[in-house]
Amino acid sequence: MELLKKRIIEDGVVKPGKVLKVDSFLNHQMDVALFQEMAREWKRRFADADINKIMTIEASGIGIAAVVAAEFGLPVVFAKKAHSINLDGSVYTSKIHSYTHQRDYDVIVSKKYIGKTDRVLIIDDFLANGCAMDGLVEICEQAGAEVVGIGIAIEKGFQQGGAELRARGLRVDSLAIIESMDDQTGEISFR
Ligand code: 5GP
Repeated sequence: MELLKKRIIEDGVVKPGKVLKVDSFLNHQMDVALFQEMAREWKRRFADADINKIMTIEASGIGIAAVVAAEFGLPVVFAKKAHSINLDGSVYTSKIHSYTHQRDYDVIVSKKYIGKTDRVLIIDDFLANGCAMDGLVEICEQAGAEVVGIGIAIEKGFQQGGAELRARGLRVDSLAIIESMDDQTGEISFR
């Protein structure tokens, strides 16, 4: 999506460790008009898909997913990062490894908000190693819900998450795929 790529070039900052900072429009301050354009783009791309629920993970996916949900006219549920898991069987749970924070954390979704009749479009801001997406897909599998697609704003194509998800047969639709980025020059190239 050209508008998003242009914005990444203009306002994205490449940090050491292959991390792209997009705090000025996506991860801290949010450009909701841009989110609306992104949502329209996913609506076009998933026009053939019979989706009845949007899903994301807290925190940075929520803003984008909420705008996507409004565009599709569907509910959105976000996986919560859990400090302690209630073992009364009321939630689906998955463990996610965060490379950016170098630790594991549990996420939960209540059984009330996801189930066998759901056809889910998962939305997130970044796809890198794919751990966050693996966790959400696992929760959908536990619930018997179908993952119809995964919509990602920015995929880091030089990390393996996207390739692995696609190899599993999942439909991953990223609006901008970064081929390479250089923390010395700040240069970013797209696939
Ligand atoms: P993954 O689980 O695919 O390795 O990473 C996905 C999550 O890590 C995203 O939801 C995002 O929060 C964070 N992340 C990974 N790489 C980057 C990056 O380059 N920039 C930012 N801002 N977040 C990232």
